[in-house]
Amino acid sequence: MRSVAMLVLLTVFAFSGVEAAAQTHTAMVPVTVVLDFEQAKHSVPLETVQAELQKLLGDSKLNVKLRLRQELPADPQLGELVVFKMRGRCTPAPLPVGALSDERGPLAMTYTTDGEILPFGEVECDHVRQSLERVLGKANDERHTNAFGLAVARVMAHEIYHMLADSKAHTKTGVTRESLSPTQLSQASLIMPDEARTRLQANGAGPRPAPDAESAGFSKLRRKP
Ligand SMILES: [Zn+2]
Repeated sequence: MRSVAMLVLLTVFAFSGVEAAAQTHTAMVPVTVVLDFEQAKHSVPLETVQAELQKLLGDSKLNVKLRLRQELPADPQLGELVVFKMRGRCTPAPLPVGALSDERGPLAMTYTTDGEILPFGEVECDHVRQSLERVLGKANDERHTNAFGLAVARVMAHEIYHMLADSKAHTKTGVTRESLSPTQLSQASLIMPDEARTRLQANGAGPRPAPDAESAGFSKLRRKP
């Protein structure tokens, strides 16, 4: 009799364990992040970008899946969808000597229309690389490639926060501060502050307005010297 009671108890525990796991899983909001490269030749380490995005956004119950635009299925089940145009030369390799490069300008931006934040953004690969070169130099080794991936993911996470939290507000610390320095882009770890995570979770997944060219604008992530 006692062993039957024990068996029942174990079954209940096992069941509640499965149920808890299922609830945790369903609470995650799938977010497809589509990369649309302006230049076909790029060498962004996508696994690094995916891992860093998940690290920054996972605590906000977002389950990030990175996809290249040309790899999207015809009838995709995407959940939340955000799209990034990847501008410039998206490679950690330094620009050839004499190449024109704009030393100023944003790292990334998000489109807005009539004050509404759209799920469309841009990453300025040349600005991200130039910013990193200030702390890493022009060496093009494996460490540099990894750092480039981390930096790209961080500027994207900043913009995804604006898009999915539907907020233009910045924080005093972490990846959602108003501007990111070369050191912040390349340091070992950068956090998504609690304040930003709360906004992300409060807004949840909802319908987004369609882009309207008439009233379009930008919200830019500036570089901090
Ligand atoms: Zn911002």
